[in-house]
Amino acid sequence: MDKANDIQHGANAFRWAPPKRRSAVVPVFLPFHGCPTRCLFCAQHSQTGVKDVSLKNILPKFKMLLEERAAKHEDAPELAFYGGTFTAMPIGEQKLCLDFAAGLKERGLVSSFRCSTRPDCVDRAALARLKAAGCATLELGVQSFDDVALRACRRGYGGREALAACARVKEAGFALGVQLLPGLPGSSPEDFVNDVQIALSAAGADMLRFYPCLVLRGTELEAAWRDGKYMPMPLDICLETLADGWLKALKAGVPVIRMGLAPEKSLEAAIAAGPHHPALGTRVMARALYRAVESAARGGKLRSLQVPQNCRGYFWGHRGELRPAWAALGLTPDAVNFVQGETVSLC
Ligand code: SF4
Repeated sequence: MDKANDIQHGANAFRWAPPKRRSAVVPVFLPFHGCPTRCLFCAQHSQTGVKDVSLKNILPKFKMLLEERAAKHEDAPELAFYGGTFTAMPIGEQKLCLDFAAGLKERGLVSSFRCSTRPDCVDRAALARLKAAGCATLELGVQSFDDVALRACRRGYGGREALAACARVKEAGFALGVQLLPGLPGSSPEDFVNDVQIALSAAGADMLRFYPCLVLRGTELEAAWRDGKYMPMPLDICLETLADGWLKALKAGVPVIRMGLAPEKSLEAAIAAGPHHPALGTRVMARALYRAVESAARGGKLRSLQVPQNCRGYFWGHRGELRPAWAALGLTPDAVNFVQGETVSLC
């Protein structure tokens, strides 16, 4: 069966089955390790809640944690090295991490492992190193494929280089994750939707992450914002923009494995401005479902709607924010039935 969700304009039923991440991930955050520069929007210490780490100290702690999980007969998770530029870390540090992860995999303590890096730091030698160690997935912090936005952020590479990096990762046989940042300086909501399309088609992403650009304290972006040189994307526009991107991914059958930065006490305190909300992901999915139904209804009113049971938690939107929109489509709460399965049926 086709993994994509075929949401057709004017259809009275369509499949609604957002693809899911397969196994749990245990992240090892290595803030700024290997990063050639500090990107103007990035504050890894606040984002991850992890201060400077020494690999020699933290790896044994993760080993213990994974042994405890195994002793409790929990499914082996995936291990992930996040928070920096893995493939630009000194070779000795990369080797330490890769040997560590390969050893855990051999013992069955993790099912696989992945790491994140930048598009300009994945040459063939780096990919060969990861492959030899058994790494399965590489996530690229592409941020955007748009040259104007990339230049405004001084990322140091262009859209063409980002695409070439995606191609190298795929050719080397890795699953490719693409991270995108809507609301970057120099970019528009349309640029983000275009970026999603490129990630899904030309780049061949196997999974996506959407991290709306926030103004975090201590970053260059904060200074630009305070000087009036940068305006973050308003939350409402961000939700609609993410819904556009999320729907594209859904139709392509590609999972969006994260929307918005993970909640962290240190992150909450660090946000100076920007489209942040603790329920960002479900607010986006609620809008996306509404859009899909509205499009299928093709301007007509609905008498009733059958929706998969697993949409119940977000169907009406955060604190019922979509009730007026559903009412405008003709739907009252008693006309919505949550049912088993993966089909949305209009009537
Ligand atoms: S965005 Fe990525 S490359 Fe830039 S400083 Fe943050 S972790 Fe490093």
